[in-house]
Amino acid sequence: MTFDLYVDGKWTTSTSDERIDVVNPATEERIGDVPAGSAEDVDLAVAAAKGALEQWSRIEPSARAELVSRLADELERRQDEITDLVVAEVGTPRRVARWAQVGLGIIDLREAATAAEDFAWEEPLRNSLIVREPVGVIGCITPWNYPLHQITAKIGAALVTGCTVVVKASEVAPFTARALAEAVDAVRIPPGVFNLVHGYGPIVGEAIAVHPDIDMVSFTGSNSVGKRILELAAHTVKRVSVELGGKSAAVLLDDLSDEEFAKAVPHTVRACYMNGGQSCNAQTRMVVPRSRLAQAEKLAAAAVAAYAPGDPTDGGTKLGPMVTAAQRERVLGYIRTGVKEGAKLVVGSVDAPARTGFFVEPTVFSEVDPDATIAQEEIFGPVLSIIAYDTVEQAVQIANGTIFGIAGAVWSSDDARAKSVARRLRATQIEVNGGKFNGAAPFGGFKQSGHGREGGAFGLEEFTEIKSLQF
Ligand code: NAD
Repeated sequence: MTFDLYVDGKWTTSTSDERIDVVNPATEERIGDVPAGSAEDVDLAVAAAKGALEQWSRIEPSARAELVSRLADELERRQDEITDLVVAEVGTPRRVARWAQVGLGIIDLREAATAAEDFAWEEPLRNSLIVREPVGVIGCITPWNYPLHQITAKIGAALVTGCTVVVKASEVAPFTARALAEAVDAVRIPPGVFNLVHGYGPIVGEAIAVHPDIDMVSFTGSNSVGKRILELAAHTVKRVSVELGGKSAAVLLDDLSDEEFAKAVPHTVRACYMNGGQSCNAQTRMVVPRSRLAQAEKLAAAAVAAYAPGDPTDGGTKLGPMVTAAQRERVLGYIRTGVKEGAKLVVGSVDAPARTGFFVEPTVFSEVDPDATIAQEEIFGPVLSIIAYDTVEQAVQIANGTIFGIAGAVWSSDDARAKSVARRLRATQIEVNGGKFNGAAPFGGFKQSGHGREGGAFGLEEFTEIKSLQF
């Protein structure tokens, strides 16, 4: 018997006997399994979360924030070991997994705890007192690409605001979530406040989406599943926040010096290939002045040379495998479509490398039509499309010309000009001249990249109801 669900502060077994194999994408070997949980498992977890809500929500925010900080400390203490788990189940190269996967998860929790310090829990408005209260029981449904961070981005904020959670981790990469539950247990977050169930989306995920005692679903994943959850959640009028796909553009303006251009191109390649291109905010379109297309191709090809597919446990590897065989096929399908639709293949291949593991060759297309399939759809692999523009107006139109709007970048010699173009991009996080990541800044989507924000105080707001007391 395996105790792999964490419900009401205890490790429990699933009511289902079915198991889901977990496979290491670099070796194609089975590394373990988790239960294919049931709707009854969800009922038990929701009952625990509902039971814990009243007491947890009445604790002082500072005390909840203190526990969330301790959870961050515990993850930090186990950072190397959890990094190994992510490398094994996702295939993220170890050199980036430590900070981009586990480090980011720790930052999420610390930023949520910090935001609690000066959050407007209550404030006067004329003869009223405006108070922010927890939404209630939150169902968190998360993807495999950043299996720790996608959960911590939700639960850090949810727990600080006094909500309780039922987490359904991705069945593709569930062991990191288990490590998180162990950390929750170690720092003695009260029973029922954090619950973890495993299983398939259509069973466990849908049971969460329709559950009458879940007050809100916070979902990160694909657009198709996000839409399904929005439909299902409508029946109980529960709140839903959805963080979905992306097709982000880096716009290189026409005033860059050769030196600046030579910095912007490899930076964009890196921002596209991070985690094998399996990032919702991957900069998958590089929009360059037509006169500099050849220069962009040359610089991109040179940058890509450092991304030979390799063993993710090797400290030198920058590009690991795709997470599953199905994901590899999907990416190869897009590369073939790119060729068929007439884009110029600068580097890369329509075939997978002849080796064990779900690898694809790092790929760059140029002369890509802004309306081509590879320029419009989320590929979720190491495939960069270089698109030419004639005027800055056109560059902005191209950048905004997809259904998505999650991230982007603008490069210019002139900061004011970069800022003015950045403000015109319909997306949430825009890097200006390679600006650094900020964990307190809001993250989320415009358009069909979803709605809702995560990160710092913006994340806390998502999990609060606003109420007024009149005097
Ligand atoms: P997915 O939508 O297939 O799965 C996400 C989660 O939903 C998993 O836990 C899955 O089991 C569950 N699920 C599947 N079917 C369900 C259903 N019918 N009802 C309820 N739950 C269901 O996504 P994925 O393949 O795990 O992740 C990749 C996608 O996630 C990409 O599209 C990517 O852009 C997106 N993503 C978005 C963000 C963001 O912040 N916007 C971040 C990371 C990933």
